[in-house]
Amino acid sequence: MDKKDNILIIGGGLCGSLLALRLGQRGYNVQVYEKRSDLRKVDISAGRSINLAFSDRGNKGMKLVGLEEKVKSLCIPMNGRMIHDANGKTFLSPYSGRDYEYINSISRGGLNALLLDEAEALDNVSISFNNKCKEVDFVKTTATFQNYHSREEFTIQADIIIGTDGAGSILRKSYYLAKKFLFSFSQNYLTHGYKELSILPDKHGTYKTYKNALHIWPRGDFMLIALPNLDGSFTVTLFLSYEEGRYNLNNLNNPKIVNEFFKKEFPDALELMPNLIQDFFDNPTSPLGTVKCAPWHYKGNTLLMGDAAHAIVPFYGQGMNASFEDVVEFDKILDDHEGDWEKVFKAYEKTRKLDTDAIADLAIDNFHEMKDHIANPIFQEKRKLEIALEKNFPAEYSSKYSLVTFNEHIGYHEALSKGRAQDKAILNMLADRAIPPTTDLKKEELRKILLKVKAETKEIIDEDRIAKTMKN
Ligand SMILES: Cc1cc2nc3c(=O)[nH]c(=O)nc-3n(C[C@H](O)[C@H](O)[C@H](O)COP(=O)(O)OP(=O)(O)OC[C@H]3O[C@@H](n4cnc5c(N)ncnc54)[C@H](O)[C@@H]3O)c2cc1C
Repeated sequence: MDKKDNILIIGGGLCGSLLALRLGQRGYNVQVYEKRSDLRKVDISAGRSINLAFSDRGNKGMKLVGLEEKVKSLCIPMNGRMIHDANGKTFLSPYSGRDYEYINSISRGGLNALLLDEAEALDNVSISFNNKCKEVDFVKTTATFQNYHSREEFTIQADIIIGTDGAGSILRKSYYLAKKFLFSFSQNYLTHGYKELSILPDKHGTYKTYKNALHIWPRGDFMLIALPNLDGSFTVTLFLSYEEGRYNLNNLNNPKIVNEFFKKEFPDALELMPNLIQDFFDNPTSPLGTVKCAPWHYKGNTLLMGDAAHAIVPFYGQGMNASFEDVVEFDKILDDHEGDWEKVFKAYEKTRKLDTDAIADLAIDNFHEMKDHIANPIFQEKRKLEIALEKNFPAEYSSKYSLVTFNEHIGYHEALSKGRAQDKAILNMLADRAIPPTTDLKKEELRKILLKVKAETKEIIDEDRIAKTMKN
């Protein structure tokens, strides 16, 4: 194959910039067209997921392009969830019983800028900003853009086009509207939306609360979370229903009621947020949804990747990580089938879709876990037991969270099947009092519990397999 194939990437966000860098490193001629201004020159973050949880699957992408060390300097390790209960008490629930397993808070802008810098440093990669894609003709492999400043429209022809243009993808819309092939598409919104707020640094420029954790204020039907930034601040996100409940996003429409809500539900957070009212009314309220679609490609001409193919709700902290893993998986498939784009796209979708569907479902599970279950005593007992199992038998046990977040060598689908079965096994055993309280258990007793959990998990997985075979 002529390695000089021209590849057009629509969207220079997290996935598009990593993809451009990797394809550039492989020798392709890559052009990226991005709708927004260059974020390295203009601050465009205002109120939209300023920082993100970055973990091992995302890091595979950084290793692939040789950026692991540079990215480390952007990361703040978060070892666990700092739970703030309704009485203002806090406790740290570690993410894993293995000390070396933690997630990181990373700035979206900082990471995106690094990827853009590295991609642009290659002679065969060009990135052009302020050009919004209006439409893609996937049969002719052309895309039409409009320049933000001149308002002029222009069309670009490429050998292949990859749409990494996020949850509202124009390439995906073009598949849907053209009706030239059987394109399935679903979009499901949560009844909850989100609003970003902040905890600013104290007068010495340091963190007002514990730095190395993801803070959560779970309140059953809604929650507040906070992730640290390098400058001593935290980005805080309120997840709340638009319509339901005494307080909701629709009726929090004046400073008095916002203050009343925070005073009642999050008094300890409010103390750290004298800027609450300004943030609340300056920042947008945004919806949260899951997008699934298929196929992701049209012949060997065009392909969807990242959120454009599989947007998910943010509760597992995996959307960006999954999009980076997309690039890693795509790169592996290229090793096998380089030279035949249709084969590459088909093989990629075949291996990847099962996993991205799984993380979409896991992310919804975690929505309920974070806002509600983590405050529940039986759930806390389960977490205690899992941490003890991970600490005492590091090679033998991984919780669902660990399987998803730290076991990057297995796919999300495998993590989901095993993780859900383990959860069910442990919760059933705790409810039936078949497991004693974890506190003060000796290693031999824990070993017995581990064996029980494993046997029960296997039984549940086998039953699920039989049920599936019967359905088919
Ligand atoms: C509140 C929130 C919190 C999140 N937290 C986490 C987290 O903790 N961890 C995690 O892993 N993920 C998280 N995510 C998910 C993560 O943000 C996405 O999965 C990730 O950004 C996907 O990358 P992407 O490049 O596919 O899409 P995007 O980052 O959305 O990038 C798409 C790019 O395409 C550009 N574009 C869009 N339309 C056009 C067009 N018509 N023409 C040209 N360019 C276009 C956009 O301007 C943008 O630059 C979170 C998401 C939200 C909403």
